[in-house]
Amino acid sequence: MALKVLLNGSKGRMGHALASIAPEFGVTVCAAIDQGDDLPGSIGACDVVVDFSSHAATRALLEAAAANSKPVVLGTTGHAPAEKAELLKLAARVPCVWAGNFSVGVNLLFALTRRAARVLGEDYDAEIVEMHHRLKKDAPSGTAERLLEIILEERKLGAAAARHGRQGITGERKRSEVGVHAIRGGDVVGDHTVIFAGTGERIELAHRAGDRAIFARGALRAAQWVVAQKPGVYDMQDVLGLT
Ligand code: NAD
Repeated sequence: MALKVLLNGSKGRMGHALASIAPEFGVTVCAAIDQGDDLPGSIGACDVVVDFSSHAATRALLEAAAANSKPVVLGTTGHAPAEKAELLKLAARVPCVWAGNFSVGVNLLFALTRRAARVLGEDYDAEIVEMHHRLKKDAPSGTAERLLEIILEERKLGAAAARHGRQGITGERKRSEVGVHAIRGGDVVGDHTVIFAGTGERIELAHRAGDRAIFARGALRAAQWVVAQKPGVYDMQDVLGLT
């Protein structure tokens, strides 16, 4: 039987991407919900809720999911840290995959970066380079921030070790530094490269996103996975068996 998905935020860019990818996964969209539609009245018929809408919608969505014991795939971003801590408690009442990036490739990049940072150690200078389209308003990207966090965790360094760009007489590079560089231009969906530069050799791990369908594919893979899980909050690393 095809998995029945309720799409929340169905009129948005991700909503459209999810609806067009769904047949590839043998998934049926049983309810397409956007602002003003009756989410509580429609949730009963679905096997799983997939949400890419607005952070302002998350509380009501999680309450409806808990009241109806429905698993959730939550891709919406933009929650303030205190708000997110509260919402995570609500989310844990059902099986919920919550990830800031649903791309399978980016999640593999996270795991490979952790492995490389662990194996290579501080003799290899770590630098992160990201490139996005000219309309992006923030820098560095959330994905670059996560890559930085992973390297800092593995090297037991604090946030002060991050070096955002360089200019002028910067002095020699410190061993503990982790450089982060944001390039902007054109219509680039999202490129991330992690460089580990040692003496006489250099390792580069790169991911290039060509289209937002990669997030939709990851989210539908998470939907198929989460329906068989116990209540709790999971991320894409769990879905892909990378933890
Ligand atoms: P979008 O602005 O194109 O679409 C959002 C849709 O949600 C709109 O149709 C809007 O009307 C609807 N919406 C707003 N409030 C709602 C509510 N209360 N109930 C139901 N629907 C509501 O945005 P998008 O590019 O589709 O992205 C949506 C969200 O997903 C954003 O938070 C974005 O950052 C996030 N996102 C996450 C990933 C990931 O991999 N986790 C990838 C892409 C986008």
